[in-house]
Amino acid sequence: MRGFIDSHAHLADPAFDADRAAVIARARDAGAAGIVCIGESLAAAERAQAIAAAHPGFVWHTAGVHPHDAAGFDPVRDVAAIRGELARGAVAVGECGLDYHYDHSPRDRQRAAFAAQLALAHEHRVPVVVHTRDAEDDTIAMVREAGGQGVRGVLHCYTGSHDLARAALDVGWHVSFSGIVTFRKWTDDDLLRLVPDDRLLAESDAPYLAPVPNRGKRNEPAWVTHTVARLAAARGIDAAALALAVADNARRLFNLVHAG
Ligand SMILES: [Zn+2]
Ligand SMILES: [Zn+2]
Repeated sequence: MRGFIDSHAHLADPAFDADRAAVIARARDAGAAGIVCIGESLAAAERAQAIAAAHPGFVWHTAGVHPHDAAGFDPVRDVAAIRGELARGAVAVGECGLDYHYDHSPRDRQRAAFAAQLALAHEHRVPVVVHTRDAEDDTIAMVREAGGQGVRGVLHCYTGSHDLARAALDVGWHVSFSGIVTFRKWTDDDLLRLVPDDRLLAESDAPYLAPVPNRGKRNEPAWVTHTVARLAAARGIDAAALALAVADNARRLFNLVHAG
């Protein structure tokens, strides 16, 4: 499978400290055309920036504050830090969003941090990478409002309702699926078919959520091939063609420029 882009990998995670270069090399060998390296905190974003700088035109980085950490979000300090990362080439704000499943931060703080990052994406005309779990109504409201103002983004590692997916698609957003769709318990193939060809992304979410047949192991971008194959099977299309489509969609959403 040639040419896919992993739209969401936490390559800055310490899980890759021992062999990060080998992980990136294996992604290239597996046919990846690129990896979007997520900065889910300002510290992670700084490390992600260094990884992107070491792999220009193949790895790109993002910068944001995850909803789990929203309680510590400082609108002055953190917005300035994300601005700094955008100046250093970050291709998106995020990941940010709402997670009412774990509720690691109070919900009002989650909404405030998410709103601030949506506003920043709007101001800088960059896309936003959104994490959402068990927060359907608030996510729909906030994505609709931002989308109405022209903000574009992606619902990453999506496992939510058809209604939320449709609300995001209606305002021009993308939907990204992870290895979860390869798990035996996954039953919602209608959701995989609901996303149009030009709005579909695939991601590893590495080091988490390794797809079958590697479930339970540390995940890595090379294994997105299994997820792309599963998406293609659900949609009844050729996996090689879908790999190129998800790459084109990632390039368009994140304005990715390849090396050379
Ligand atoms: Zn996430
Ligand atoms: Zn993530």
